[in-house]
Amino acid sequence: MHSSLTFTLSLILSVHVYGVAGAAWGYNYKNGPQTWTGACQTGLRQTPIDIRTMDTDYSLMDRVNFIGYDQLNEVTAVNNGHTVSAAGFTEWKNKPYISGGALEGKYYLQQFHLHWGQKDHVGSEHKIGGLSYPAELHLVHLKEGLTLAEALTRGDGLAVVGVFLNIGESGEPLAALTKNLEELTYSGNMTQIDKFRPRSVLPTVTDAFYRYEGSLTTPGCNEAVQWILLAEPISVTRDQMEQLRKIRNTEGEEHEFNFRPTFPLNGRRVRFRPAQYDRLRFCSSSYFPSLFITVFSIILSKILN
Ligand SMILES: [Zn+2]
Repeated sequence: MHSSLTFTLSLILSVHVYGVAGAAWGYNYKNGPQTWTGACQTGLRQTPIDIRTMDTDYSLMDRVNFIGYDQLNEVTAVNNGHTVSAAGFTEWKNKPYISGGALEGKYYLQQFHLHWGQKDHVGSEHKIGGLSYPAELHLVHLKEGLTLAEALTRGDGLAVVGVFLNIGESGEPLAALTKNLEELTYSGNMTQIDKFRPRSVLPTVTDAFYRYEGSLTTPGCNEAVQWILLAEPISVTRDQMEQLRKIRNTEGEEHEFNFRPTFPLNGRRVRFRPAQYDRLRFCSSSYFPSLFITVFSIILSKILN
């Protein structure tokens, strides 16, 4: 009786504490990644990671197919206190989804959001050989036939496509979002984007990517994510980057950063698909003449000698 009462009380208490922690997590010294609980602390396939050459293998995976990403349609963007996020794709008549890329089946686009910092040398969640990009965009996809709750309990419930942002000339990729960004300054702000094309936040070349098994990068850090990190970044202008840095968190302050630090691989390997490895390249017209010239000049030199 006594122990069951204690159990019930501790359950209520833990639910309560979890509820409070769930609402209050963030990225500062009081509520940041070091304070997140559960799998965030104990997990062994956590995200993000630093992708180093020694942990990476070439892999002949098929390309990722981005289906329905060329449509122009309506999404709702929101400042949720942790990031700016855009959703509504599941309401579209032709729901955008991905397949291929060594994924099993289809994964439907749910939302995308961003991670950044106040300085150019930090911002992305993933690192490549120890280096960060100024920001990283995540397109979150749910496996066909699963609810989000079900997906979170499976190792392959979600597929997230990560896209690095590089400060450059073109502001095209984020234009639709940054046009409305001032309306999203404070936590809880929401705005409609009438014409959004998912393809716009993808790089021109999506053939080269890193692939590994990881987790959500926010509480509860569920180890349910098949990660696809595109090697080619997209461009964001300095002005757009500065706009992003003005977004406020739950406490009403600009995010010093909203990325999670990297985690050890714990035996995981990263697969890398280069952009060009197919047979066509080796049979291309530029390859054969040079081969012919080489063989011809060897024969010619033999004759002349
Ligand atoms: Zn993310």
